[in-house]
Amino acid sequence: MTYAFSPPATVAVPIAGTDDLFPVHRIYCVGRNYEDHAREMGFTGREPPFFFMKPADAIFVVRPGQPASLSYPSLTGNFHHEIELVVAIGRGGAAIKAAGAMDHVYGYAVGLDMTRRDLQNDMKKQGRPWCIGKGFDDSAPIGPIVRKADAGDVTKAEISLQVNGQDRQRSRVDKLIWNIAETLEHLSAAWTLQPGDLIYTGTPEGVGAVARGDRLVGAISGLPDLDLTIG
Ligand code: MN
Repeated sequence: MTYAFSPPATVAVPIAGTDDLFPVHRIYCVGRNYEDHAREMGFTGREPPFFFMKPADAIFVVRPGQPASLSYPSLTGNFHHEIELVVAIGRGGAAIKAAGAMDHVYGYAVGLDMTRRDLQNDMKKQGRPWCIGKGFDDSAPIGPIVRKADAGDVTKAEISLQVNGQDRQRSRVDKLIWNIAETLEHLSAAWTLQPGDLIYTGTPEGVGAVARGDRLVGAISGLPDLDLTIG
């Protein structure tokens, strides 16, 4: 038995301070996980967390010190940034309890949940899936993964996104409605987590559109910045 054609290469993210790569299994994303972002999207209150996914090959790796150009995608006139803390899973499991959930975390990275907002909003209105607004090619830029022990306490880190040197988003990870451990409890009740899973944990308020030529710098204290230009 042979494959009918060559299987795709494994999607992988560099691990900071090593020559190793983190092989990506799935990308889960948490919706509306900061209160002020939920409000700006027209919702209020603490609702149970909800999830969507991006394909693993939506990953767009950004290496520090190497200029990265993210192509403006097709079909949209409202391409939005969402800066997010990404949690990398090193140990899988189902029905994980929040109390032990942090033992499943391998490390952290700075990520962008890039969104074709016009398409997402159209799909929402029609009660249709968000895939076309969220799960498109290169929709998941990410910086190197920093191992948990090397990252300090990201649960209280500042998180920010600047566009052309101006603040667009600035908050703190401790403002997450569902913290990392609680998110893992909810997520692993629905799916069996595997080593290699990445979780984009949600974005704070201040999401907005970008244009070709814009330079985006995402930062979370304790992690390398994510720096790219829209091409
Ligand atoms: Mn998001």
